[in-house]
Amino acid sequence: MTNGGCDLAVIGGGPGGYTAAAYAAGRGMRVACVEMDAVGGVCLHRGCIPSKTLIRSAELLDLTRASFSDFGVKVRGEVSLDFGQAMGNKAKVVDRLHRGTKSLLKTAGVAVIQGRGRLTSEGRVAIASPDGGLEIDAKHVLVATGSAPRSIPGVEVDGDRIITSDHALFLDSVPRSVVILGAGAIGMEFAYIMSTFGASVTVLELLPRALPLEDEEISAALQRLYRDRCEIVCGARVTAAVKTDSGVKVTAGSADGSERTFEAEKLLVAVGRRPLSEDLGLEECGVRVERGYVQCDPVMLTDNPRIYAIGDLVGRLPLAHTASMEGHVAVDAMLGDNPAPLDYTAIPKATYCIPEVASVGLTEAAARDRGDDVATAKLMFRAIGKAVASGEYEGLCKIVADAGTGRLLGAHILGPHATELVAEAGLALSLQATVRDLARTVHAHPTLSEILRETAAQLLH
Ligand code: NAD
Repeated sequence: MTNGGCDLAVIGGGPGGYTAAAYAAGRGMRVACVEMDAVGGVCLHRGCIPSKTLIRSAELLDLTRASFSDFGVKVRGEVSLDFGQAMGNKAKVVDRLHRGTKSLLKTAGVAVIQGRGRLTSEGRVAIASPDGGLEIDAKHVLVATGSAPRSIPGVEVDGDRIITSDHALFLDSVPRSVVILGAGAIGMEFAYIMSTFGASVTVLELLPRALPLEDEEISAALQRLYRDRCEIVCGARVTAAVKTDSGVKVTAGSADGSERTFEAEKLLVAVGRRPLSEDLGLEECGVRVERGYVQCDPVMLTDNPRIYAIGDLVGRLPLAHTASMEGHVAVDAMLGDNPAPLDYTAIPKATYCIPEVASVGLTEAAARDRGDDVATAKLMFRAIGKAVASGEYEGLCKIVADAGTGRLLGAHILGPHATELVAEAGLALSLQATVRDLARTVHAHPTLSEILRETAAQLLH
């Protein structure tokens, strides 16, 4: 590509970068997308998509074991897991979506360049690849290099006994036992997968509850539902992990000063991710990086007027869908459209353990901390006809609203298809709807979505 050859160079082809590249091309920009591995990024190759296919295998196994007979469906012989087939299916799904992503970029007219991109001091993008180097000049640069799993001092990931989600998605067999470090989204999703696949699972969480960013009542209900599935030890500060002849031994301290050790065949470290901002030439171009995170204004522009950044690298709410939407905002800003910044409180969070957990907006505690006069309502899924008819009625919906105006502040769901149901609450929140709006919206009967309407209706008196 020659000097001035493109309007936008995107570094990183994950859900943030490739979506922005395709969107920008659709808006008439000449776009290059530089990717050192495979377009689709962590989400497609080592994150959201492969984990969801394994969760589906686990869910089908659970359903077949637990409730087929209740519904009059007979399965002859023993129900068991074919782990190789589950992993093969996962690979096939990823391959299919990878081909789809490549074709989407091709159709959009995005030039995908294989190699590692880096900004030069002149603001060009230098691409290093096994077949030699290349430099491109672009009017705008969008940096979307994402993140990688992190660990903690005293716990050294070796990819064999001490692993991260990167390795857990490519295991050859189901370990007999696993200690999972961290009860965040990754920890709880793997707690579901591994325990259903037959491993004995212990989850160690530093904070007082599992999914500590979710509403307290949701965490408590999830922990109750997981009691028979695995041991979740909260308030456990892991300080060391050493390899033994048969696996790994983990030491954790608790608030009262006592220490406990846990042994397992594998230790899965799920304590968060670190932004991939090193060796990109950012600081040399005047881009501010603090604790690894690129600093941007509300429309994703860095301190360099040509360079934008999005996604986990910025770390405002490190989720694939945040990155994609930030990419749209950045492209609109490049095109001078003066876009509205994203409203991060209206971005849904989703954890795909079964039952699923999803939320949008403020938790009750966050709303009270802010000084709001808060009203809340709760409804159990067992009060919803469709949930009972389907045999999936564990969990609840909780709504947080402003007590005076009835305006929706947050919705929190633990239960069947929670990650789908939360979309309605997200729309309601974006439109600044009230609980009256939700309660007056006619929902089809019988559907799981009635839980939102009926929870909201409780706040109308
Ligand atoms: P996380 O930040 O969600 O959770 C990490 C957990 O580890 C926290 O609860 C934290 O308190 C705990 N922890 C930290 N240090 C510890 C220690 N020394 N001992 C014990 N516990 C400790 O991170 P994650 O689950 O690794 O996920 C990484 C990122 O990927 C997050 O931003 C997450 O939202 C995102 N993600 C999202 C989804 C999804 O949307 N379904 C799925 C997977 C990952």
